[in-house]
Amino acid sequence: MSNNRTLFLSHLAQTSDTPLMLEIERASGVELYGTEGQKWIDLISGIAVSNVGHCHPDVVKAISDQASKYMHVMVYGELIQSPQVKFAEALVSLLPDSLNSCYLVNSGSEAIEGAMKLAKRFTGRHEIIAFNNAYHGSTQGALSIIGSEYFRNSFRPLLPSIKHLEYDNVDELDHISDRTACVVVEIIQGEAGAVSPATWYLKKVSDKCHQHGALLVLDEIQTGFHRTGPFMAFMNEDFVPDILVLAKGMGGGMPIGAFIASRDIMDALTHNPALGHITTFGGNPVCCASALSTLEIVKLLDEKEIIRKGSIFHDLLIHPEIKRITGRGLLLGVEFEDEVFNKKVIERCIENGVFTDWFLFAPHKMRIAPPLIIEDHQIFMACEIILKSINDLRPE
Ligand code: PMP
Repeated sequence: MSNNRTLFLSHLAQTSDTPLMLEIERASGVELYGTEGQKWIDLISGIAVSNVGHCHPDVVKAISDQASKYMHVMVYGELIQSPQVKFAEALVSLLPDSLNSCYLVNSGSEAIEGAMKLAKRFTGRHEIIAFNNAYHGSTQGALSIIGSEYFRNSFRPLLPSIKHLEYDNVDELDHISDRTACVVVEIIQGEAGAVSPATWYLKKVSDKCHQHGALLVLDEIQTGFHRTGPFMAFMNEDFVPDILVLAKGMGGGMPIGAFIASRDIMDALTHNPALGHITTFGGNPVCCASALSTLEIVKLLDEKEIIRKGSIFHDLLIHPEIKRITGRGLLLGVEFEDEVFNKKVIERCIENGVFTDWFLFAPHKMRIAPPLIIEDHQIFMACEIILKSINDLRPE
């Protein structure tokens, strides 16, 4: 009889030649459990998804309550579904007034697609500006704007009229013009390895957009929901995006995303053509129930606590092999000399009980993005295991 390992390789599409191939039995709070008795402290949260921890009892209950009422009734946007309206109201009540209309979708990539379409439709322009090393998703529109030629090249032709600028370089912002529909940007570049720009940089991007009637599309798919400290990372800065894009941590583990704008901007999708963006499963009621319950937990999180927890990693992860730690809050990148060494350390960490990985565009950095509910003693233990893993390879 075939075991799951064989079935995984025979019948699931593979994304690389080197899948991790660890079989997960269950996950709870900050811990993952394998089928061979392994236990890991989860330092990546399924890539910034499980912000409230795995299988939070309130979230599990909300999902099961909604699943027993209805799971799917009609494509997004036609029927009034209580989990959708309650979630949208709760979410916008935590955002600046202008971000008051949510288009609910299924993933980060779809939310980016929707945001790009909305900006084109609203401005009547088609040029889109994005940044080197940005990651916005894997569908063809999102792929067109990601900042890596390695990933884009094999799938050309992609969208025309896309310009890529150097991130955190103010001089390059002169490329934003009256032809620009929108600028799509991350407030901290996640897959570039948790890279923060100068504090005033995003304000400059926003000002430049407004000067030219272009929309600022802020991708907080990875940074949202307190990942970097504040509820949304932009909330500590002096600008408000025209379109905010969310996913990942929003659903508490269930697949859901959103692009959020003012009603005025969002209404452009209702006509010429009507049904300007359509999605069957977008805003699925079970996912919305999960997202609402997750939001109730997330909104009690304290920005200072997350910053404090992040600083423990900074204080404890001191080793000659660690070049520096980048990022904010609990979205951190631990930098090593090169990719080969980083990947060896990651392998050792996994053997020793810490689950982590590298960044798509920064393979020499180890990702630290644990569930935000991680406790101090778990951080101490995780850091001890990381340092031991480095020492196993190159003793201090
Ligand atoms: N934007 C950012 C900043 C992301 O980190 C990701 C996912 N890593 C995406 C967009 C795409 O989201 P998804 O994988 O849900 O399509």
